[in-house]
Amino acid sequence: MKKEIEWGKLGFGYIKTDKRYVSNYSNGAWDNGTLTDDDKITMSEDACVLHYSQSCFEGLKAYTTEDGKIVCFRPDLNAARMHDTALRLEMPPFPKDRFVDAVKQVVKANEDWVPPYGTGATLYIRPLMFGINEVIGVKPADDYQFRIFTTPVGPYFKGGAKPIKVKVSDFDRAAPHGTGNVKAGLNYAMSLHAIVTAHKEGFAENIYLDPATRTKIEETGGANIIFVENDKKLVIPKSDSILPSITRRSIVYVAQNYLGMEVEEREVLLAEIDNFKECGLCGTAAVISPVGSVNDHGKEFTFSNGMEKMGPVLTKLYETLTGIQMGRIEAPEGWIVEIK
Ligand SMILES: *Cc1c(COP(=O)(O)O)cnc(C)c1O
Repeated sequence: MKKEIEWGKLGFGYIKTDKRYVSNYSNGAWDNGTLTDDDKITMSEDACVLHYSQSCFEGLKAYTTEDGKIVCFRPDLNAARMHDTALRLEMPPFPKDRFVDAVKQVVKANEDWVPPYGTGATLYIRPLMFGINEVIGVKPADDYQFRIFTTPVGPYFKGGAKPIKVKVSDFDRAAPHGTGNVKAGLNYAMSLHAIVTAHKEGFAENIYLDPATRTKIEETGGANIIFVENDKKLVIPKSDSILPSITRRSIVYVAQNYLGMEVEEREVLLAEIDNFKECGLCGTAAVISPVGSVNDHGKEFTFSNGMEKMGPVLTKLYETLTGIQMGRIEAPEGWIVEIK
């Protein structure tokens, strides 16, 4: 029985669902893992994660397709990314095949929480991993916990996607050769002051520049940036410190293979922003969120599409990708993983 929830009115918040998956690592090996009701974690006051932030996470969604199947989108890429993140943070990677299997188990166990097709709501899936044993001298933990919980979330845009105002941040997100390209919790810790500051000033998001020269566009705190040069061409900022968004990589594929567009992945200067017609932020939560204007220290640039609605090229990309996700358009091999 589906839970009695007004799915369309849900926001993006945590609601405790029935089951979560937990696997623990100690003595050099991951245990078999299990589903549990217990949403609480007990650890030492000296747990590594509490002091040295040895933690990482992932985010993906399960949802109901037009023909009533419960599926998720490209979980193998989340497994691979978390594997890469773990190596960068000196954590033992959770095996990729077990990651996908655990996602399936936990979604199946929370089937009643998967929103029905057409509501715009989804079941957000949050895998996380952290160092759990006592560590006082700085070094990686010996013991870890891998966990996946789920929470139902509402449609990202209620009543259409309105373009947002963003600002060029004075803070940096990720140092050259740092951890910007992995999904580490620490990348978010240091973005909190920047986002609170941006919100106080009336902006929805921060655009971070490359810290070395402060001339090139990287990404926002939690989404990659894409630019539309014209209806035949996308431009994607390229840098070693951008997190490889699965949504962005999927959009690139859709642009090239479904819409016949050219995609250029290269360094993008802030100074060339007025060459672009549309701009979008991409990530699992919103898929594409349109940017209406960019404020660089008082100098405001508004994309030609204005502040009313998403531009035509981003709309086409958005509709094609969400059509693939929801089963209305045929998906490339392996993109849609059926859970039930
Ligand atoms: C998670 C994340 C994204 C979006 O990645 P998706 O795989 O598309 O959800 C973009 N930027 C940062 C910094 C992120 O942490």
